[in-house]
Amino acid sequence: MKLPMERAWEERVDKMGNHSRGEAERSTARMEGELYKGEDYKTEFQPQNYLKTYYAFDSGTIAENEVLKFNLNNLFETFSPGGMGGDILIDIGSGPTIYQLLSACEVFREIIMSDYTELNLREVDKWLKKEPGAYDWSPAVQYMCELEGDRSKWQEKEAWVRRTVKRLLTCDVNQPRPLGSAQVPAADCVLSLLALECACRDVDAYRAAIQNLVGLLKPGGHLVTLVALRCCEYMVGSRKFFVLSLEQETVEKALQEAGCQMLKCQYSPIKYSEAFCLNEGFCFVVARKGPGA
Ligand code: SAH
Repeated sequence: MKLPMERAWEERVDKMGNHSRGEAERSTARMEGELYKGEDYKTEFQPQNYLKTYYAFDSGTIAENEVLKFNLNNLFETFSPGGMGGDILIDIGSGPTIYQLLSACEVFREIIMSDYTELNLREVDKWLKKEPGAYDWSPAVQYMCELEGDRSKWQEKEAWVRRTVKRLLTCDVNQPRPLGSAQVPAADCVLSLLALECACRDVDAYRAAIQNLVGLLKPGGHLVTLVALRCCEYMVGSRKFFVLSLEQETVEKALQEAGCQMLKCQYSPIKYSEAFCLNEGFCFVVARKGPGA
């Protein structure tokens, strides 16, 4: 299957071999215990390590499983038929994951995925094209199919995700136009899970990033986001990454300031395993862009 992909991205992927060799040299020069952030994502965030730690699901740690289940349950409620739906959903900061699309793929005509790093897009592309070494999402897909009423339909759902994802783009939430010069229609829904708190250096940047995402929506469109609250760092393999510590009120206020009406803010006190990530609870938020935003 050939995924219609942005040419610029394909060109950049071609250069990745050279890039990786440089990375090994740079990494050895780094001090141990360094906190990675910003542009470091492009060289230091290893998709396979991230997936192994946070998305092993059935075979993984209990805390990480609970987080994924909380997330899948909320996505199921949000995107079940008769609820939200439409033409275009843009997923921002997709990372190397596809679990976030398992319900949405049923109710949107077209999904655009995006991330800051080419390695993450490459990892997603591997799964979309069923390439050797692609991540096995089947436990999470089966869980979602069970929520939807028929666990045995998981292969159909995987096929449906593969058909619905039409583009993979690079993005930067800190830019007023997060998708750069890519021609993208205004979206019915913007989804961004666990990405803004990693991408933003302070609360002002977070508020600006929320506005940038709202800018991608049609009036009346929905912004759906999951935030790890009061988080300050997380591990990806042996590398520690910075996370902006956010309170639920800060998230709600940022959305209101961006002209959105809060429809849902589901808090859970669950946490990741302390060895991987320090956080205190999560909130899953659904907001609607107002007419004046
Ligand atoms: N959404 C995924 C991945 C979250 S990990 C999930 O639910 O698991 C954090 C992601 O934020 C990484 O994929 C990273 O590449 C991305 N990211 C970091 N800086 C960013 C930026 N400036 N703009 C957009 N995404 C960014």
